[in-house]
Amino acid sequence: MNLLKNKVILVSGGTRGIGYEVCELAAQSGAIVVAGARSKVEFQNQNIEYYNLDVTSPESCKVFFDYAIQKYEKIDGLVCDAGITSDSMTAKMTDEAFNTVIDTNLKGTFNLVRLVGPYMENQGKGSIVNIASIVGEYGNIGQANYAASKAGIIGMSKSWAKEFARKGKPVRVNSICPGYILTEMLKSVPENLLEKFAEQTMLKRLGQPEEIASAVLFLLSEMSSYITGSVIDANGGMRL
Ligand code: NDP
Repeated sequence: MNLLKNKVILVSGGTRGIGYEVCELAAQSGAIVVAGARSKVEFQNQNIEYYNLDVTSPESCKVFFDYAIQKYEKIDGLVCDAGITSDSMTAKMTDEAFNTVIDTNLKGTFNLVRLVGPYMENQGKGSIVNIASIVGEYGNIGQANYAASKAGIIGMSKSWAKEFARKGKPVRVNSICPGYILTEMLKSVPENLLEKFAEQTMLKRLGQPEEIASAVLFLLSEMSSYITGSVIDANGGMRL
């Protein structure tokens, strides 16, 4: 399938887990992909290139953005996937734990979209996909910081869907709320809790990063041309 033929797609957090699978699937679908993260990885697919990015730094986001437009002269898609957790009960949550999660997940998304969104608006088209979380919709014990960051991403995405469409051009902004997906992010979660989460889904299992990547591909492609300002749940029916 060539759903993204010749499209230029930027992916923050593209070096591991969900972001890595997004890069692979987008490249297999015909896209040229720039994968941003702090630690370098080598990609086998020649259509994916790594570029250093720290989403918490507005300067780093600007360098990443400038690199992409100077090299490729357009940006068709942006996936804001970079994210971290730093969990603890609220009474014990340090300022640092609160601030790092907000700076990376929420402000990091803002730092990229404030460059790419207006650029797409002038370009006259584009698709932005922000990775939120089931925790941003329903909350979770020990994750007040993370829940705030992800709920914020949903609110920002809806605002941007309105803002960047003011000129009547097809710039679309959507978010995806994954449930529990088997990546390094879940490594610190105890096995018995993961089993409980799996049991709470209708499909009786946790998700694979590829299953989120396919939802991202849909939102990046013209297959979703009438979808903007939406939140797609990809959680195995966890909260039905
Ligand atoms: P991983 O920990 O596997 O990957 C996180 C990616 O983000 C890495 O590429 C990492 O690279 C990058 N990253 C982290 N901090 C920064 C930063 N400051 N600047 C640039 N890149 C950064 O996580 P997942 O794949 O599991 O998660 C991806 C997204 O999906 C996150 O936003 C997460 O919140 C969300 N999500 C995940 C769920 C899950 O169950 N796994 C469930 C719901 C949502 P590096 O460290 O080198 O910078």
